[in-house]
Amino acid sequence: MTDSLSAAEAGPPRCPLCGRVGLLALVEPSGAALCARCGEVFLWINEHLARELRRKKEMIRLTTELRKLGLDSLDVVEVVMDLEEEYGVSVPDDVVQGWVTIADLVRWISEDRDADAA
Ligand SMILES: [Zn+2]
Repeated sequence: MTDSLSAAEAGPPRCPLCGRVGLLALVEPSGAALCARCGEVFLWINEHLARELRRKKEMIRLTTELRKLGLDSLDVVEVVMDLEEEYGVSVPDDVVQGWVTIADLVRWISEDRDADAA
């Protein structure tokens, strides 16, 4: 799906979110190589938000700010409820308040799941 110009030159790419070996090269300018876990969460968020907000998926990137997508706090609460259902996590309010970008959200979900999945 993507052509990877910079593969293999500097060792395996690292996931920018959690530092694991990155596997999933995202189709975005940064070419971020997320690990399987972060990648899965990101793709879920991406698809979910694209559908909810009727935006193109390419508009929703790791560095995209939630507020810039037009998500107000109520919208975010709804997304979080869906996330909690999907991933079986419980996200504290103060954590949600601290999320600025999509990356923040993906990182948190990914870390939380990391705890019991070794
Ligand atoms: Zn990761």
